[in-house]
Amino acid sequence: VDLPLEPHERAFRDELLAWLEHAPVPPGLRDYGATPTADDVEPAKAWQRTLYEGGWAGIGWPVEHGGRGASVVEEAIFAEELARARLPRQLNLVGFDLAGPMIIRYGTEEQRSRFLPRILTGQDVWSQLFSEPDAGSDLAGLRTAATRTGEAWCVSGQKVWTSGAHYSDYGLLLARTGGGERHRGITCFVLPMRSEGIDARPIEQMDGESKFNEVFLDGVTIPDELVLGEVNAGWIVAMSTLGRERRTLGAHAVQYFAHLDELRGEIVARGLGVEVRDRWAELWWRVRGLRLTWLRELSGGADGSEPRMSLLKLLSTEIQRDLTILATEVLGADLVAGDAYPEWRHRLLAAPGASIAGGTSEIQRSIIAERVLGLPRR
Ligand SMILES: Cc1cc2nc3c(=O)[nH]c(=O)nc-3n(C[C@H](O)[C@H](O)[C@H](O)COP(=O)(O)OP(=O)(O)OC[C@H]3O[C@@H](n4cnc5c(N)ncnc54)[C@H](O)[C@@H]3O)c2cc1C
Repeated sequence: VDLPLEPHERAFRDELLAWLEHAPVPPGLRDYGATPTADDVEPAKAWQRTLYEGGWAGIGWPVEHGGRGASVVEEAIFAEELARARLPRQLNLVGFDLAGPMIIRYGTEEQRSRFLPRILTGQDVWSQLFSEPDAGSDLAGLRTAATRTGEAWCVSGQKVWTSGAHYSDYGLLLARTGGGERHRGITCFVLPMRSEGIDARPIEQMDGESKFNEVFLDGVTIPDELVLGEVNAGWIVAMSTLGRERRTLGAHAVQYFAHLDELRGEIVARGLGVEVRDRWAELWWRVRGLRLTWLRELSGGADGSEPRMSLLKLLSTEIQRDLTILATEVLGADLVAGDAYPEWRHRLLAAPGASIAGGTSEIQRSIIAERVLGLPRR
């Protein structure tokens, strides 16, 4: 089964494949996922520049803002082909799927011309400062506060799990600016990450990488012109583009099929029995189910914001987890002894994070129960 492509979509794919064949891949570039590590940043920026020069930067953004105005199906084709080529499809998730679309929708003309071109060319890296120690799933409970002082704002508080804060140029910051109803008193700011009073401390993850940070904000000054959208309307600004990355979730199936192929080779070479083979086959069907569900949503006109897309997030991250569990059974002690399987070791340790980032599995289940199936709220 393939994407049911219209002629113009087939032409889009052919153009992309022809470009990919000759695209200069910078030395040291690897498929690092949604966020580069500090070591990945230089090759990632060079790759973003290459994408830009080839006309493949921010493809889903409107043409008048430097994108290609690509449809959801074209974005899906792009994500799948880049996954197949084992290349990142953009510098990072936040700049392209969050900051850019939020600035396009809510930014002033000055903000758009100042920030958008530099995101597209990879000159600026962006991060997202939403979560706090006591505000993750319950984001509206955030306590970082911004108070107005003349023409500027003074911000103090703490953020956590901020991917890429240690090398970012700008951050999207949510801070409390008003009392009253929890969702209403929040404002979204563009935070220049090298401002005085910001201390970003990388957190070492269990997979050995340090992609995210604790960020301490101590009397940081933000000029008034960096408020994004209306004061006290930051919740609407922040929520307006959440879920955009879900349009490309099904593209993970390409990777999962490749991982299944690797495991099949091991199962055969090790002469493993029917029990493991059955589990392998079950996973294969689930990956196929993920891809088909994704295709059905896209061809039905989904844009990523629908509650139904929670099902894709859940399916994808559970497959990711179960693939690594199967790998522990297939590879046994070889997974940890010696250095024959570093990639599987990394996948095993990275899988739990995927089921937390962007909304935990429990939260996805609640969304499916209440907003898709219409079950009563507890
Ligand atoms: C790899 C990774 C990258 C991240 N990058 C960023 C980033 O760049 N910027 C950023 O702002 N944040 C980032 N995050 C943070 C992420 O958004 C939060 O971890 C996530 O929203 C969960 O919040 P929490 O960690 O505070 O857990 P909590 O919300 O405290 O949840 C703890 C547990 O309770 C469960 N739970 C909570 N509420 C409910 C409920 N109502 N019903 C049922 N169960 C519930 C959860 O499912 C979870 O199992 C990242 C996280 C990860 C793992």
